[in-house]
Amino acid sequence: MSGKVTKIFNQAITEKRKCLLEHEAKTVCKEYGIPVTALKIAKSAEEAARFSEEIGYPTVLKIISPDVLHKVDVGGVVLNINSKEDAKKAYSQIVESVKKHKPDAKIDGILVQEMAPCATEVIVGSIKDSQFGQTLMFGFGGTFVEVMKDVSFRIAPITEEEAREMITEVKAYPILRGYRGQPPADIDTLAKILLNTSKLVMDHPEIKELDLNPVMVYEKGAKTVDARIILE
Ligand code: ADP
Ligand code: MG
Repeated sequence: MSGKVTKIFNQAITEKRKCLLEHEAKTVCKEYGIPVTALKIAKSAEEAARFSEEIGYPTVLKIISPDVLHKVDVGGVVLNINSKEDAKKAYSQIVESVKKHKPDAKIDGILVQEMAPCATEVIVGSIKDSQFGQTLMFGFGGTFVEVMKDVSFRIAPITEEEAREMITEVKAYPILRGYRGQPPADIDTLAKILLNTSKLVMDHPEIKELDLNPVMVYEKGAKTVDARIILE
């Protein structure tokens, strides 16, 4: 078990926050070997520009606020930033937009992260069921997961074999295998993400819900683009 993870959970509990901030959730994931986008926290427009240079273009800027659950809804996400000027502009734009949509929202800074190239989008999640305990979900479709309803479930902890079954069970699996000239997705990495998510929620029964959505899966490797963890 990782001290870093416990520290993040304890801080959230002390501050009476049930939902971890995106960078906290991603740090927890990273500690468990789940690949996430590189990120840094900017407290000024200048810092946002400097961190964008350090991370490498294109970058993405996002609001960090305990009062904002859906960042896009308050204009809190700017994609595809390609210069220092873009980054500075996006910083001010986000702060202004959030103040307009949610005047009382506490702004902790702006998250600068690498922009993950588009790829096949999957979702990895967990929910703590009152009867079965930690339950894992794998699904296809990223943003469209609710429409596609193409998901598989297992009760945690899972074995490597079960992780692979979860992947092959979804109807869209042939797409992951490579379809009509599309390169195949990295199934090994995906299985590892499911196994590590299982380990994370078993180590931490205080996790009520976890949502990695979307995870971009490449020919080699994968990247979690948005992560949410809700505590009990
Ligand atoms: P919300 O809190 O509204 O869910 P997200 O962080 O999920 O905001 O961002 C909205 C969308 O923007 C994502 O679903 C994804 O399509 C895109 N996006 C966000 N971050 C990145 C990133 N680092 N790389 C590529 N696309 C991203
Ligand atoms: Mg999201």
